[in-house]
Amino acid sequence: MPGHTGDTMPTCNHCGAHVSERFARVFADENGDIHACISCSANAGIAEVARERARGT
Ligand SMILES: [Zn+2]
Repeated sequence: MPGHTGDTMPTCNHCGAHVSERFARVFADENGDIHACISCSANAGIAEVARERARGT
């Protein structure tokens, strides 16, 4: 089992769940923070997050 702390799985800041690197690349903000994962988005609506990002740039 990998025990080193070199590779950090991207995690959702909201619930702490692991997300895929691809998901992180799309939804992380400029600080690398992911404000909602797939399961969070099912509840909260990730469209809001995407809209915030679109406005930021
Ligand atoms: Zn989450």
